[in-house]
Amino acid sequence: MQTTTDFTQTSWINVPANSDFPIYNLPLGIIKHKDGKTAAASAIGDYVIDLSSLQRLGFFKFISLPDGIFDKPYLNDFIALGKPVWHALRQRIKMLLVSDNEELRENKQAREECIYKMSDVEMLIPVKIGDYTDFYSSKEHATNVGSMFRDPKNALLPNWLHLPVAYHGRSSSILVSGQNFHRPKGQVTPPGVDIPAFSPSKAMDFELEMAFVIGKQTELGQSVSTKEANDYIFGMTLFNDWSARDIQRWEYVPLGPFLAKNFASTTSPWIVSLEALEPFRTKAPAQEPEVLPYLKRVDENTAIDITLEVWLQIENSEPVKISTSNYKYLYWTMEQQLAHHTINGCNINVGDMMASGTISGPTPDSFGSMLEITWNGKNPFKLPNGEERRFLQDGDTIIIKGYAQNENGRIGFGEAKAKVLPTL
Ligand code: MN
Repeated sequence: MQTTTDFTQTSWINVPANSDFPIYNLPLGIIKHKDGKTAAASAIGDYVIDLSSLQRLGFFKFISLPDGIFDKPYLNDFIALGKPVWHALRQRIKMLLVSDNEELRENKQAREECIYKMSDVEMLIPVKIGDYTDFYSSKEHATNVGSMFRDPKNALLPNWLHLPVAYHGRSSSILVSGQNFHRPKGQVTPPGVDIPAFSPSKAMDFELEMAFVIGKQTELGQSVSTKEANDYIFGMTLFNDWSARDIQRWEYVPLGPFLAKNFASTTSPWIVSLEALEPFRTKAPAQEPEVLPYLKRVDENTAIDITLEVWLQIENSEPVKISTSNYKYLYWTMEQQLAHHTINGCNINVGDMMASGTISGPTPDSFGSMLEITWNGKNPFKLPNGEERRFLQDGDTIIIKGYAQNENGRIGFGEAKAKVLPTL
């Protein structure tokens, strides 16, 4: 895709250096004002732009938009309007915010109705998620897990290099950043034991992931090719696929993860558009053996260079960075994941979320889960205050951050943050 980003543009709204939200990002989300009213919004610097108010005041009159489209509690209906409308909205918001444009800048009343401090609004989950799928697309992660639990010499199962492995997750428990959740309980078995006990999980883990949001539905029977995939993807978020490893170990054969995963997942609140991410495309890892034709990448630049960070904050302490990874490490790209997901005719809907799978890099400081960082608890992670962690304890908060940066500019995703509360 041709990039439409002009990195030289600046806004009349102050954008701090290294902000996640310069004028060439403009992600979309759902905000809740102090009076309880919700609206679709975009972000710039430390401010949010209320799109519902902009529309009501006539700033979008030259875009074909249904009345009240930004008053809804989710972005789904807007997203369903299609890619040309996403682009037109993005261009219009950019035009209103660019330094030399006076329309909004010189309209004090409109400014007061449309621009709010980010700290004065609450972020809600941006889409009504119909279906949620979680892939397993990091070769480094799959190799680490396979080495730990099966055989280091045959860490990858025979299918892994031929298809993007995935499972169907559960959307009802996907939370937005800031929503905490209770430690799950269930059947757990210590390693090497075959009789389960009932207990709160003693192996709470995070998974560093990103997700993409479906922007266009298909009919049952239809497949999306790798070439068409970008027309069906609205944008991306940071994602934490919380996992209870002791529950997982006991339950996952033969049908895959179930209660070890479906108690909670966390998404960041802002959806960054593929259009904003286009300048950060980069070469994807080479694939050997060659994949089947329906999985062939359109070109080699189908990865995206997004630096990902995991921070652990224990109670009464500052957050500590425990991992730095990158979305570009994924062996299977979004386009391949979507092509595979639909090759059998499985239909997709606007608002579906598809997560990448844990994104681990080649070195221990880039591993995307406690399971890998501590090698299944064998090498505890040491915190600056002397405490150790094998897995997460009650009161621990995990914060995932992400940004794409090149020599021209930087855009970010905000954060996906949640705390593990004691079992109910
Ligand atoms: Mn996962």
